[in-house]
Amino acid sequence: MKYIFVTGGVVSSLGKGLTAAALGTLLENRGLKVTIQKFDPYLNVDPGTMSPYQHGEVYVLDDGAETDLDLGHYERFTNTKLTRLNNLTSGQVYQTVLEKERRGDYLGKTVQVIPHVTDEIQRRIYALGEKAKTDVLITEIGGTTGDIEGLPFLEAIREFALDVGPQNVLFIHVTYVPFIKAAGELKTKPTQQSVAKLREIGIVPHILVCRCEHPLDKELRQKISMFCNVPFEAVIEEKDVDHSIYEVPLMLQRERMDDLVCRYLRLDVPPANMAHWQEIVRKLIAPRHRVRVGVVGKYIELQDAYKSVYEAVIHGGIANDCGVEIVKLDAEDIERQGAAAVLRGLGGILVPGGFGERGVEGKILAAQYAREHKVPYLGLCLGMQIATIEFARNVLKLEGAHSTEFNPASPHPVIALQEDQRTVENKGGTMRLGAQACQLLQGSLAMSLYNAFVIHERHRHRYEFNNAYREQFQKAGFVLSGTTPDGKLVEIVEIKDHPFYIASQFHPEFQSKPNHAHPLFTGFIGAAHMFLHGVAL
Ligand code: GLN
Repeated sequence: MKYIFVTGGVVSSLGKGLTAAALGTLLENRGLKVTIQKFDPYLNVDPGTMSPYQHGEVYVLDDGAETDLDLGHYERFTNTKLTRLNNLTSGQVYQTVLEKERRGDYLGKTVQVIPHVTDEIQRRIYALGEKAKTDVLITEIGGTTGDIEGLPFLEAIREFALDVGPQNVLFIHVTYVPFIKAAGELKTKPTQQSVAKLREIGIVPHILVCRCEHPLDKELRQKISMFCNVPFEAVIEEKDVDHSIYEVPLMLQRERMDDLVCRYLRLDVPPANMAHWQEIVRKLIAPRHRVRVGVVGKYIELQDAYKSVYEAVIHGGIANDCGVEIVKLDAEDIERQGAAAVLRGLGGILVPGGFGERGVEGKILAAQYAREHKVPYLGLCLGMQIATIEFARNVLKLEGAHSTEFNPASPHPVIALQEDQRTVENKGGTMRLGAQACQLLQGSLAMSLYNAFVIHERHRHRYEFNNAYREQFQKAGFVLSGTTPDGKLVEIVEIKDHPFYIASQFHPEFQSKPNHAHPLFTGFIGAAHMFLHGVAL
């Protein structure tokens, strides 16, 4: 097995995760089996307890692991199925080390960062390697070189390289080459210093991926090559993309990065055939059709809070050869200005997942607008609960209907805490999480979209549709089109008398890919186009 470590320098948010994922795409398309792992230096055990302001989206895996959103990129860009072994935090490392210490496993030794913490980190690389059985394992180290909390990880990968031998390891450093306006030029000094920092720790990068807004000319590449001690050809330009993140693999291929990686690691494989990927990018740059949909959330100003949702919407567009303009709408604006003022002109309305009361009434107004004006609606998790509350209040006339998450004293708790959540006290990792089976109702929109009887989708929630209200809803044309196979939990709801109104308790966005759009999103974009232009795609 070959190991690639991706570190980052100068500043955060350089897109290390995307770079790792894009390299994964290229290697897979050369016939290699790849998996990608992320190390996060923070002390939380997982990001599940962090606010979107801190962390952006929490990405959920099949096995229920709540992980960093970079794992979403890994799954969207490659075919690898990730598990909880693919995301390691300092919190998990210390938790394990301290448990071992309490058990007495260290046999009287002083427990230290080196070797005990670093050994635990290395163990995790080996553990994934053994389980995944791939040709290449890419490990992305979160944070920026020079961070105190990142040091044990860098020390661990340095030792690891020694252990598996230099011919099996590649260090890639993603760095920033800023453009200084006043000087009118790109500057290499931050990159030099960041590489120096790495070398201080004992890591000599083989490849430098230079993030920049302007192209690196030959002279600049030579300068970086000389000062940073990497060959000229290993200075890779990764310019900001013009249209879409899905251009990154093609960009790195043009820079011959995958050739270089294979050469360094002595992987004798044919070049990557990226024709299908080029077609994806073509559809993003010059789609045949266009549509506008709104996403109504409460973290609308954040880039990353609804990452997978935005990506899945784009994928739904790709599947329809339709460019999607995503209008990001603040639910509280709907509360202030009314639904029509904010939502008019959209081809579809999507209400994503969420927690907490802020913005809920605005989302309910959005669901009502979609239902009454026959605008295609897609609700995800909280978006499904919102659809339920709206229908209860405005169609069934159940005054004060609500979720007990927002009003525990509601006279009509149409959404209520799941039975087995009632005794849960700890917040971390205790929701209903991960892939669960769902059975679809014959003749429903869900079944026609999925074209299957049983599906598996990922969950992350504590509340559910209150079964005491099932009959009332069904009688009024609210279809419970997906349930758990035992029939106990409602998983998908629809409205009969509507061209496209569907909402799921699960998160379909976590399983959508650019080359394999999720059927709910493909259907949603198709319906949105129909609504706006009267033409089926
Ligand atoms: N807050 C809701 C629940 O816990 C919805 C969760 C979500 O949207 N992910 O059930």
